Amino acid sequence: MRVPLVAANWKMNLGKPTEALEFVRSIRHRLQEIEHVDIVLCPPFTSLFAVAEILSRSRITVGAQNSHWEPKGAFTGEISPAMLTEACRYAIVGHSERRAMRSEAESDAAVHRKVQALVANGLTPIVCVGENLQQNEAGQTQEVVGAQVSAAFEGLSPDSVAGCVIAYEPIWAIGTGKAASPVDANRIINLAIRGVLAGAFGEATAQKVRILYGGSATADNMASFAEMPEIDGALVGGASLKPEFVKLVEEVARVRGK
Ligand code: PEP
Repeated sequence: MRVPLVAANWKMNLGKPTEALEFVRSIRHRLQEIEHVDIVLCPPFTSLFAVAEILSRSRITVGAQNSHWEPKGAFTGEISPAMLTEACRYAIVGHSERRAMRSEAESDAAVHRKVQALVANGLTPIVCVGENLQQNEAGQTQEVVGAQVSAAFEGLSPDSVAGCVIAYEPIWAIGTGKAASPVDANRIINLAIRGVLAGAFGEATAQKVRILYGGSATADNMASFAEMPEIDGALVGGASLKPEFVKLVEEVARVRGK
């Protein structure tokens, strides 16, 4: 059985350590009480270590929102996987906002290098994949998502792949208030993500990978996603910045816990 996981993507919010800590202090006790769900907070780099420190003795873990692939060197402004290991267990890679803003630095090839580097450093990548509205309307979702999955994991060992997390995030659903239908998300995850992984790495490996839904997930709609057999939790943007986040995680625990 895959343990469900909910990851909070704070994006460029709560970046001042004081405001990040105030928010974490307001939700951590209730979050701590939720069993059978892995919880990951992904603050901006500026508040990441402060959040990691306050959560160091809790079961809530911390992730970065990005990572470079090189270990060190002349890469001004970049953060390497090795720099993250003292604070983080996870790192988001290939988020659609980065793929859109930085087409080269967040290309499929770059995402692949990031995944390799994170795994080599003992960190768990949360690899974001998803189609845009035009691709969705043209019926290309399966092809687009399948290609992103193939590119991200190419050449990795089945064991390494099994430990990774993937977030299926239809771009048109991110931050829009228009979530995908749980049945559609479940179908795409089954065909274009787990199916592609099974073809490349074997069914047993594919069954171990945790695959999240992302895109306007809220406390109110989370249960309908968590009820889907292929959906193992959520990557949450807007709702992760509010006390509602606790309720959203509780919904996953209620539906998928144990
Ligand atoms: C995201 O950015 O990963 C995301 C899912 O955002 P939101 O929940 O706000 O749609």
